[in-house]
Amino acid sequence: MQTRLGIISALAEEQHGLIEAMENPRRAVLGMREYTSGKLWNVDTVAVLSRIGKVAAAMTAATLVERFGVTHILFTGVAGSADFDVRVGDIVIAESLVQHDMDASPLFPRFEVPLTGLAQLPSDRELSNRLAAAARRFLDGENGPVLHRGLIGSGDQFIHDGVRLAALKNALPDLLAVEMEGAAVAQVCFELGVPFAVIRTISDNANESAATDFMHFVQTVASRYSFGIVKAFCEG
Ligand code: SAH
Repeated sequence: MQTRLGIISALAEEQHGLIEAMENPRRAVLGMREYTSGKLWNVDTVAVLSRIGKVAAAMTAATLVERFGVTHILFTGVAGSADFDVRVGDIVIAESLVQHDMDASPLFPRFEVPLTGLAQLPSDRELSNRLAAAARRFLDGENGPVLHRGLIGSGDQFIHDGVRLAALKNALPDLLAVEMEGAAVAQVCFELGVPFAVIRTISDNANESAATDFMHFVQTVASRYSFGIVKAFCEG
C-alpha cells in the first residue's frame, strides 16, 4: 500500500512553513478547514489545521482518512507540562493518550472511552519510534531540550491552574503533558485502524502563567521545532 501521511496541527504557528515547503500543493476546503496535498521532502502528504479541541480534531482526522485517503497520521503541536521533569522547550512523544475529561462513571471506569474498553489509547509504536529518531536528529542541533515519551492527556480545557493540574496528576500519575486534541485523534485512528503518532513541544506549565508563556512560546519556538522535526521525519 502506498503511504500517504496526514499532518494535523491545531494552530497555524504549529505548521509554520510546511505548506510553503510542499511541491505542487493542491488546496481543498471542506468543513471550515483547508486541506493541502502535495509532496513534502518526497513524502506524499496532506496537511491541515484542525482548529482547537477534541471534536475539531476528531472531525479533521476522520476526514483525512475517509476523504483524503491518508494511511498514517501525525499530530504536531504544543502542550502544557504535567510533570516536574518536563520543562518548557522539551518535547513529548505520546506512547498513549487519555481523554482526561472523559468520565462516564459509574457506568464505565473514569477516563475509559465507553465501548472501547480503553482509557489509554496507544499510539503506533513504529511511527512513534521513527518520530523519536527524527526529533533526536533535530534536537542534536539545539541546546538543552529533552525528549520524553509517555502519556499525554487531552481535554476541552486550556489548563492554566496549578490546583486543577495537581488534581489531574493525582488521578493520572504518569501524565507528562496536557493539550486539547491528541486523544481525540487517537480514538478516531483506533476506530478506523490507522497508525498515528503525536508529538508536542512544551509551551507552558499549565499553571497561572500558562496563557502568557503559551503565546510567547508558540510564536518564537514552536513553529521552528514543528518544521524541523517534520522535515527530519520525512527525510527519514
Ligand atoms: N490562544 C489560542 C488558543 C490556544 S488553545 C488562540 O487564540 O488561537 C491552546 C492550544 O495549545 C491547544 O490546541 C492545545 O492543544 C495546546 N495547549 C498548550 N498548552 C496547553 C495547556 N496548558 N492546556 C491545554 N492545552 C494546551
